[in-house]
Amino acid sequence: MSNKDIPLKKILISEEQLAKKTKELADQLSKDYVGKDPIFICVLRGAVLFFSDLMKNLDIKCSMDFIAPSSYSGNLESSGVVRLLLDLRENIKGRHVILVEDIIDTGLTMNYMIENLKTRKPASLEVCALLDKTENRKQPVATKYIGFKIPNEFVVGYGLDYQEFYRNLPYVGVLDEQKIQKK
Ligand code: 5GP
Repeated sequence: MSNKDIPLKKILISEEQLAKKTKELADQLSKDYVGKDPIFICVLRGAVLFFSDLMKNLDIKCSMDFIAPSSYSGNLESSGVVRLLLDLRENIKGRHVILVEDIIDTGLTMNYMIENLKTRKPASLEVCALLDKTENRKQPVATKYIGFKIPNEFVVGYGLDYQEFYRNLPYVGVLDEQKIQKK
């Protein structure tokens, strides 16, 4: 895909910045969870690239699982309606759980996930999110591990999509809505 085919205003976070931050987060998690055999839960589909890079950098015994909340269905704004499309395979009762998410925007998705997982009685539950759009928060979210705080703009790449496209970009870029409308 040539760069001119990607409707971006600009690159917000480069591939190098993503790699550096992911390694820092993994180092911190490895320290915090040593001896706890935690379970990392990838929130599909947006977190998949971040999750994979994070996992490769962890230096502890841990397991992985996957969960999928309903998405924005291609819209630029949160519908606020959340439900589970795919549930965990593992029983997390008594486990140390880290939910790995691509981005926290209004906070509605993450709060739904946290409340849902808490009912399963994990030993602990923390959130690790690559991106945080704090300006748009409707509900506070307790996030212990955050990669980057970003402005309230719609971003794509490194797992994040616009109508299911651009997830494969190795960087995070700001979508240019004007370029999309012209198409
Ligand atoms: P929230 O429920 O916090 O409003 O939204 C969280 C979910 O909305 C994220 O997991 C992601 O799927 C989607 N989302 C929020 N902001 C963006 C954005 O800027 N770009 C993309 N591609 N998805 C976003």
